[in-house]
Amino acid sequence: IYEVKHLQKSFGNVEVLKDINMKIENGEVCTIIGPSGSGKSTLLRCLNLLEKPTGGELWFEGKRVNEKTDVKMLRRDVGMVFQSFNLFPMFTALENVMYAPIHIKKMPKSQAREEGMELLAKVGLENRADYYPGELSGGQQQRVAIARALAMKPKMLLFDEPTSALDPELVGDVLSVMKEVALAGMTMAVVTHEMQFARSVSNHVVFMDQGYIVEEGNPEDIFTHPKEERTQTFLKRLL
Ligand code: ATP
Ligand code: MG
Repeated sequence: IYEVKHLQKSFGNVEVLKDINMKIENGEVCTIIGPSGSGKSTLLRCLNLLEKPTGGELWFEGKRVNEKTDVKMLRRDVGMVFQSFNLFPMFTALENVMYAPIHIKKMPKSQAREEGMELLAKVGLENRADYYPGELSGGQQQRVAIARALAMKPKMLLFDEPTSALDPELVGDVLSVMKEVALAGMTMAVVTHEMQFARSVSNHVVFMDQGYIVEEGNPEDIFTHPKEERTQTFLKRLL
């Protein structure tokens, strides 16, 4: 579904992504792990053009993603969930979920409401539909953010450390919602420090360091038989 060829990204004269090559297949859950500053967020942000690549090629569903791409259309298909939720604070949970379908897809309000309620139920928040983000816990806000992303019926979802801003006791609910979304067949790219999630939910693990993909493979390859010394060192530090 998404192919990255020789992706390069510099900020000024600092090269943050050096030569990234990867493929994310339809229905795959790809987790991206690696030390702070290795370029994980930048890679994810390039995939929906929140950052503009400075070299290489991006291909989504067989089409080149570049300056000519309709960014709005791309982000309909490739949704994103952020570490900091980024909900609209003046809208209720339901209104947050309804917003993009109504304003971007021109969906009738009644249909957006109906689908929004179904999505809130799916993330376990049907009884919080009329709450404002400020009245919800971080974990609940993140689940609203996931429902909001799903409301656009994307072909793929990007998650950048979706549980890093949460109190530990709230992490599990968000991960189990993500797991359900994965089991429903969504193609996902997830930057995460949750190794248990990477290990048990994803089928493709990418280890990045210093702007390169050092090693990638299935969870068994990466967690049980890492080949590269840098992968081994990174994983050892987490144990
Ligand atoms: P973390 O685990 O801490 O989130 P990361 O792997 O997501 O790290 P990135 O956020 O992609 O890393 O950053 C990679 C490098 O790019 C860092 O050295 C960072 O300082 C730099 N960088 C990121 N965004 C910008 C920007 N907008 N301008 C300049 N430098 C940036
Ligand atoms: Mg990051």
